[in-house]
Amino acid sequence: MIYLDNAGTTKVSSSVKKAMLPYLDEIYGNASSLHNAGQIAKEHLEKARDDVAKCLNALKDEIFFTSGGTESDNWAIESACKIGEIQNKKHIITSAFEHHAILNKLKEKEKQGFKVTYLPVYENGIVKASDLENAITENTCLITIMMANNEIGTIQPIKELATISQKHNIIFHTDAVQAVGHIPVDVKDLGINMLSVSGHKFHGPKGVGVLYCKKGTPLFPLINGGAQEKNKRAGTENIMGAVGLSVALKNAVEEMEKVNSKEQKLRDKLFYSLSKIPHSKINGDKKNRLANNFNMSFEGIEGESLLLLLNEKGICASSGSACTSGSLDPSHVLLSIGLIHEVAHGSLRITLSKYNTLKEINYVIKTVPEIVSYLREISPVWDELEKGERKHAI
Ligand SMILES: *Cc1c(COP(=O)(O)O)cnc(C)c1O
Repeated sequence: MIYLDNAGTTKVSSSVKKAMLPYLDEIYGNASSLHNAGQIAKEHLEKARDDVAKCLNALKDEIFFTSGGTESDNWAIESACKIGEIQNKKHIITSAFEHHAILNKLKEKEKQGFKVTYLPVYENGIVKASDLENAITENTCLITIMMANNEIGTIQPIKELATISQKHNIIFHTDAVQAVGHIPVDVKDLGINMLSVSGHKFHGPKGVGVLYCKKGTPLFPLINGGAQEKNKRAGTENIMGAVGLSVALKNAVEEMEKVNSKEQKLRDKLFYSLSKIPHSKINGDKKNRLANNFNMSFEGIEGESLLLLLNEKGICASSGSACTSGSLDPSHVLLSIGLIHEVAHGSLRITLSKYNTLKEINYVIKTVPEIVSYLREISPVWDELEKGERKHAI
């Protein structure tokens, strides 16, 4: 099996797995307990927190462990909205192509009376600082803009955006789930207030994440209960997960340059070769994107059919439509960069990891054109395009 869906999730690396195992049956104390078993567990948890803080250039006390990227995103929004409510500021600014962990949370806030401005991301998939500046009102309580997009990999000018936010004294949060461990992230240099991280996007375990919250930025709990995480996030700590995340992050930061250069070579080979397919298009900025992200549309085909046929050939990839939950809506990300529905439907996302090889990529380069040709042969839409009864969109 060739796994090319690393923006979806990654495999836990062997060193991370090894680091995690002792927490099942050796170091299993509850970090809140006063006895030695508990205190030893606590030391390990705090070491993990310290390691994560160092990787992000944060203070140890600014790192809160959560159950993943979704919880971190929800927490940041809830907390900032609570402050907004107190100050009677109920306006939020975000981008049109955030992850659903942000967009669906904001939909809920809209039902609760908040106004949300969705900044455009244009054809290149990048937010403009001037748009942010223009969207800010005296009621804006939160700006939340992702660092790197999960479908097209484009990287946002977070430092520039956060500078504008700071000037207006507005809380700035970034969903950095796709960025951390993949590009350098220095929270001090960026000048942000909050940042979300998820372990399973950089060869750590699923079900554990981090919310960074800058000292001085008020943080209200999302989950109430015990006094864990300095009274901010209740529930017995997932020490095995926290250690797994911290080791994975340390590895990712250490190997970043080497891994990125390897991934980029393979990714560019994919772009170069698959761009030769007629009526195809690369989605998102070609340069300003994650090294492992490939996203292309092929006119006249259905992404789902492409995926299923790739799967039969042993290739695990992802498409531009969310066929989950029975809906066949095309990806909101691809629509946000201006693709029409038909083209967005015929999209393919390939996201690489350090484990992918040239041999695998060569196999993909041979297989994708064959499948696209086959699907076009049996497609009534393609037939109309070829006969000139319908105009090509790309
Ligand atoms: C995966 C992902 C999330 C969700 O993280 P989980 O840990 O799976 O909850 C949020 N935002 C982005 C950009 C993601 O890629």
